[in-house]
Amino acid sequence: GHLAAGAIENARLYASMSELAARDMLTGLYNRRLLEQRLTEETQRAFRYAKPYSVLMLDIDRFKAINDTYGHPVGDVVLQSLARTLLKEVRDIDTVARYGGEEFVIILPETEGLDGTLLADRLRTLIAQTPITLSAGGGLSITVSIGIASYPHCADTSQLVIERADQALYQAKRNGRNQ
Ligand code: GH3
Ligand code: MG
Ligand code: MG
Repeated sequence: GHLAAGAIENARLYASMSELAARDMLTGLYNRRLLEQRLTEETQRAFRYAKPYSVLMLDIDRFKAINDTYGHPVGDVVLQSLARTLLKEVRDIDTVARYGGEEFVIILPETEGLDGTLLADRLRTLIAQTPITLSAGGGLSITVSIGIASYPHCADTSQLVIERADQALYQAKRNGRNQ
């Protein structure tokens, strides 16, 4: 009856609201909170089944200059376009999240460091070679730097895996970016 229908409607609303809260508004990707939750789950699963996983941390190079040159709205388009590219290029079982302003994290279940590195370099090359189409016309080329860390090889907790990936990203930045 009425009450049951109302309860179902409430449950549905609640489900879609918690789904929304887990999503980044600009890109539709998972946000940092959900990413960290997924990473904890993945670490437990990897431990239980003695499987590896890898994490990529990706940061747009000189993004501040893109905002300064083309304006914040164009910067937003760049973030949305990059998000779509990342989703398109990974497997269904991978998780793509917007970790911070112009920083993305990808969880790669069942993936050793070597395969993760191959994917990272494929992404890096693709992004550098594919200008982003602007509504005002023309294309905008960007590059990204990517850090990788793997469980259990580099670290045995999700927090440490993220830390190691972040350190590797920092290294890529220091060594000249686009790597
Ligand atoms: P690096 O190569 O060292 O990463 O340099 P960078 O300029 O990318 O790094 P920095 O951290 O100095 O700048 C990040 C910029 O990202 C600054 C901030 O204004 C911008 N940003 C963060 N979130 C958003 C957003 O949602 N939209 C837009 N358009 N810009 C954003
Ligand atoms: Mg950056
Ligand atoms: Mg950054």
